[in-house]
Amino acid sequence: MARSYVREARRRVGPKKERVRPVIERLKAAHADAAIALRFRSPLELLVSVMLSAQTTDVNVNRVTEKLFVKYRRPEDYLAVPPEELERDIYQTGFFRQKAKALRGTMKMLLEDFDGEVPRTLDELLRLPGVARKTANVVAAELGSPQGVVVDTHVRRLSQRVGFTKQEDPVKIERDLQRLVPREDWGVFPHLLIWHGRRVCIARAPQCAECVVNDLCPSSRI
Ligand code: SF4
Repeated sequence: MARSYVREARRRVGPKKERVRPVIERLKAAHADAAIALRFRSPLELLVSVMLSAQTTDVNVNRVTEKLFVKYRRPEDYLAVPPEELERDIYQTGFFRQKAKALRGTMKMLLEDFDGEVPRTLDELLRLPGVARKTANVVAAELGSPQGVVVDTHVRRLSQRVGFTKQEDPVKIERDLQRLVPREDWGVFPHLLIWHGRRVCIARAPQCAECVVNDLCPSSRI
């Protein structure tokens, strides 16, 4: 019964290849301000912010980095203080020991292998200690050269709801989205889903009646 209902809903909205562009266009119009919520003024600050944002909120990271970026301006600065001092300075973002270790390792590699600059390619970013695929994808996209699609909890939930993927694993979801979403939208697409997920398609109470893509969504409740 439930399965035939889902099949019927999918038939009603049509194939995802035909829906993806209108969904993106409508979400762009509805969330024109959709952008990364982390505050940064340079590629280095971006990289540090994204590394600190694991397991915590962007608001919390911004609170910590406001002071952090006054004290730590260059990769050398992160290595010039004792590890415990860096740990104290990022304590409020949680998992401070692991994060401090990752930051120090990353700064060392930036200096040794990248002339102190943040690299742009996914492969290079993934070489940095403590930089996983999601972090690398966010940094590459914000630096203007998205090479993948960032999959966080909102992106995963909304991609499933609008019928763009049936997968559960983030790597497989990203693969589905890379096949579906036009490359020029790889950078903005996650922001659109994140903002739509926060404002309209809320996890426990989706506001389907207010949703600009309700006629294109197989999970619509109206
Ligand atoms: S129609 Fe409902 S379930 Fe579908 S995206 Fe909109 S709010 Fe979410």
